[in-house]
Amino acid sequence: MKIGSHISLSAPDYLLGAVKEALSYNANALMIYTGAPQNTIRKPIKSFKIDEAIKLMEENDIDIKSLIVHAPYIINLANKIKPETRELAIEFLKKEIKRVEEIGAYYIVLHPGSHVNQGEEIGLQAIVEGLNEVVNEDCKVMILLETMAGKGSELGKTFEEIKFILDRVKNRDKFGVCLDTCHVNDAGYDLNDFDGILDEFDSIVGIENIKVIHINDSKNEKGAKKDRHENIGKGTIGLENLKYVVNHPKLKGVVKILETPWIDGVPPYKEEIELLRQV
Ligand code: FE
Ligand code: FE
Ligand code: ZN
Repeated sequence: MKIGSHISLSAPDYLLGAVKEALSYNANALMIYTGAPQNTIRKPIKSFKIDEAIKLMEENDIDIKSLIVHAPYIINLANKIKPETRELAIEFLKKEIKRVEEIGAYYIVLHPGSHVNQGEEIGLQAIVEGLNEVVNEDCKVMILLETMAGKGSELGKTFEEIKFILDRVKNRDKFGVCLDTCHVNDAGYDLNDFDGILDEFDSIVGIENIKVIHINDSKNEKGAKKDRHENIGKGTIGLENLKYVVNHPKLKGVVKILETPWIDGVPPYKEEIELLRQV
């Protein structure tokens, strides 16, 4: 099983520090933001200690495809109401892809966007246009559209919306999907029947598109459209359902990433990874 958690980069060791932290959780995968997720201030990649980090990953059999990058969530390609912010988002995403290429990572997770009262179809179309501006055939990374909870006017809350985008991007081979268990629950899918969810996803989008799964419990009931992550086994999805997801034979090679909240200022990932690994 390839499993790890979200880890934030911090001075002075950045990526090297993140890999060390992942190893301390007995993880063999990790997800990072290249800076604060809520802003676009970025430190030069040169300061990230990449070579040492990659070496440490290799020594511990962590594949480069198990190092996931999450794009900052302030990027909203769907918002056409403010063209200048959208232009900034597009420029930033282009730069972010370059940064991920420099790191040598392959998968970058992206929230599709929010339509901010323009309507779903206009929002989805704007996302497609934005992605077509950002992703060209030389792109060395794969953009994974994350399934969203549907909070506010978030798009990507149904598999049909994910399909809408994937059907229209020019460089289709540069795109995949990141499934988030909390988001899927909050969007209204029933995690008590994960096989049913997978079948539905497979018939609409194709299961082979799932490259990463975010493993989170949820603070809210199915369909609540809230997006509040809960610790493993402490939410409405429950430990057994989450264990079923991480051990699913059809998702064997798929990287699993925890984004559960810290408990009393302490990351819970070592214990939660152990919990999920127990048969
Ligand atoms: Fe996300
Ligand atoms: Fe997520
Ligand atoms: Zn979330």
